[in-house]
Amino acid sequence: MVIKPRVRGFVCVTSHPDGCAAHVQQQIDYVKSKGPIGDGPRRVLVIGSSTGFGLSSRITAAFGCGASTIGVFFERPSDEDRLGTAGWYNTIGFTEKARAAGLYARNFNGDAFSDEVKTQVIQAIKEDLGSVDLVVYSLASPRRTHPDTGAVHKSVLKPVGKPYANRTVDTDRGLVSDITIEPASPDEIADTIAVMGGDDWERWMQALADAGVLAPAATTVAYSYIGPEVTWDIYKNGTIGLAKNDLEAACARIHGKLSADGGRALISVNKALVSQASSAIPVVPLYISILYKIMKAKGTHEGCIEQMQRLFAERLYQGADLQLDVANRVRIDDLEMQPEVQAEGAKIWPQVTTENLAELTDIAGYREEFLKMFGFGLPGIDYEAECEPHRPMI
Ligand code: NAD
Repeated sequence: MVIKPRVRGFVCVTSHPDGCAAHVQQQIDYVKSKGPIGDGPRRVLVIGSSTGFGLSSRITAAFGCGASTIGVFFERPSDEDRLGTAGWYNTIGFTEKARAAGLYARNFNGDAFSDEVKTQVIQAIKEDLGSVDLVVYSLASPRRTHPDTGAVHKSVLKPVGKPYANRTVDTDRGLVSDITIEPASPDEIADTIAVMGGDDWERWMQALADAGVLAPAATTVAYSYIGPEVTWDIYKNGTIGLAKNDLEAACARIHGKLSADGGRALISVNKALVSQASSAIPVVPLYISILYKIMKAKGTHEGCIEQMQRLFAERLYQGADLQLDVANRVRIDDLEMQPEVQAEGAKIWPQVTTENLAELTDIAGYREEFLKMFGFGLPGIDYEAECEPHRPMI
């Protein structure tokens, strides 16, 4: 079939298998261009490995550190007449290239919140690797079926305590408008913490430790976001921010256990980036479009792969200083949070309208990145050509 982008709101319902593979290749090329990362991990488990920061972490571990990788993700497979999701094709692209480079790569497509997937992954580690020395926890999910109770928790992106009014952009249609979001109920807050908080990360680390498959001095890292004040009511102080606080509390507990063996648990605060998760958050895409404009002009713009390569090379490994902040977090959002970047963003923010969106923001760059996530707009791909949609997992 000939595969074209079909954007519906903040998702693209189609994805291009060859374009996704080309996107993965671009990231591999970037990591290789930066050279090997010294003292990096050798056996890595990435939970949430098929898109966004998790995919870039896996690529950095494999192609920057020469690591064997196991990836866990939840994606729709392709079949004869139905497209798979981008993460499905990304994973196939990654696995082909990793194996061609002589690197071990094994994949699990299933619900990472479940006990079954944890058991399967632990079995695979025992069979193939013996242990893992890095666990990246990069899940972003709208829901979680609780493994003990069977209850389905749904996460919401809402303010807490009071309504939040601000401007937002419909990135597809280029319309800037004002929105008001009503505050979350206590149940919605608890549900969001159940999905995006630290409970599942702790369960993974406990299960790995109990099975004896964590290498001594293992590292685990999960990702968070803080961002500028203009987004705090919907992000940092909203339901997702409360879930991130819970993730940080879990981090401290996991660290307490791992550090006895020379290991460490870390939160890395990453930059705001176009991802399938972030495009669903109200207001954030407008902030990202402004941020991209400013950071590209300054020459400090980074995508997922630049962020993750720098996280590994300049914070986590090569004897680098973690440069923890006062709350013990790694900050790889340092370039985003530079005062001059934030001051310029705050100046542009109130001026943006539908009419001047293209001029004052990098909405074009946002859209380009958004489509790239689904394999569209990659150089060297003929988007008019017939393309086989069905790609079995390898
Ligand atoms: P993403 O949507 O690109 O990736 C999410 C991953 O989780 C995918 O691999 C998906 O398959 C997997 N997943 C979802 N539900 C699953 C399930 N039930 N079982 C197994 N796998 C499942 O997200 P992202 O933007 O890369 O976010 C990753 C982390 O980084 C999140 O914790 C997010 O809060 C954080 N973060 C994101 C940004 C940003 O701007 N995008 C910034 C800072 C931090």
